[in-house]
Amino acid sequence: MGKKDYYEVLGVSRQADGEELKKAYRKLALKCHPDRNPGDKEAEEQFKECAEAYEVLRDAQKRQIYDTYGHEGLRGSGFNGFSGGFDDIFSRFGDVFQDFFSFNFGGQSRPRTSARPGDDLLYDLKLSFEEAVFGTEKDIRIHIMTACETCLGSGAEPGTKETVCPACNGSGQVVQSQGFFRISTACARCQGTGRVLVSPCQACQGQGRLKCEKTVHVKVPAGVDSGTRLRLRGEGESGYRGGQTGDLYVRLEVEPHEFYERDGDNLFAKVPVSFVQAIVGDEIMVPVLGGGEKSVKIEPGTQPGTVLRFPGEGVRRLRGYGNGDLFIEVEVKIPTRITPRQEELLKEFTALEKNKSGSKVKSWLFHGRKGRKKNGAAEASREARS
Ligand SMILES: [Zn+2]
Ligand SMILES: [Zn+2]
Repeated sequence: MGKKDYYEVLGVSRQADGEELKKAYRKLALKCHPDRNPGDKEAEEQFKECAEAYEVLRDAQKRQIYDTYGHEGLRGSGFNGFSGGFDDIFSRFGDVFQDFFSFNFGGQSRPRTSARPGDDLLYDLKLSFEEAVFGTEKDIRIHIMTACETCLGSGAEPGTKETVCPACNGSGQVVQSQGFFRISTACARCQGTGRVLVSPCQACQGQGRLKCEKTVHVKVPAGVDSGTRLRLRGEGESGYRGGQTGDLYVRLEVEPHEFYERDGDNLFAKVPVSFVQAIVGDEIMVPVLGGGEKSVKIEPGTQPGTVLRFPGEGVRRLRGYGNGDLFIEVEVKIPTRITPRQEELLKEFTALEKNKSGSKVKSWLFHGRKGRKKNGAAEASREARS
């Protein structure tokens, strides 16, 4: 017998996106779920069929092969359908079924275990300016709930297992009749999980985890900045009774630098030069991040606020290739105190300047002032008229 078309199995169009597929699969899997159809071979077959269709269509690569070459093509690529049992389906599509169990089907849904995932953790880590620019490695100490070594996280004493709760027969719900009403509440014995431990692990009191202090090695890549969050998968809290481990998020805060500032991948620095250096030019040494100095040429006649750009000498890009740029702003310092001799020389300098372009400066000043007065007068007369 030929295999059915996967899109037909799930009842979706060939253009269905991930969300549509998930919805369709969830609806069907719910209908033909083995827990709801005990002993029904047909439902079981359909349940497996849906799982296989979903497995292929949710995977972009497999879907493309199927769209182009059909079942034949998939077999050629090494996919042999869904050979595993139900537990396989559960572990493979955990995300779909997790939502599943949070639905309430009037007490008919039954969780497979009493496991619950562990919490994600957030750790604030301070870095120096250089550490953020060049990257670093740090060991951090965190207090977390970690899997109990005695029971390997299951919560059950070694050699024993979780079993179906005898109080609610595994439904997690108990129904009480009150006159006409039937009220269903979470089972107190198993706290609604449907499972109980015959003998809880003594080391962790059946929790499957214990509080402990742990050292985590954090690799900080070059180019991070304040607010960057690093995710360390599986370094969060251990799950409850063997549930999935949470993640650890490390949030970075970068300390300021005495000389450099940063905007994304670009570095900025202000360099003071004397007015004489700005006029006649010079070569100055500027401290470099991470140690050392670099020589920077100040051209003769450099104006205050001139920004020199050094491409590729900024911060390494966290995403993408290469580095940002380095910008150095020239700050021309005017001395506040000078010696009589210096003053004498400056006056001499000014006298020479006057001979060269003094009349020009004078006429600019004169025109400037006159112009302003003229405008003022015009405004005054306009005011008088109105
Ligand atoms: Zn234990
Ligand atoms: Zn129970």
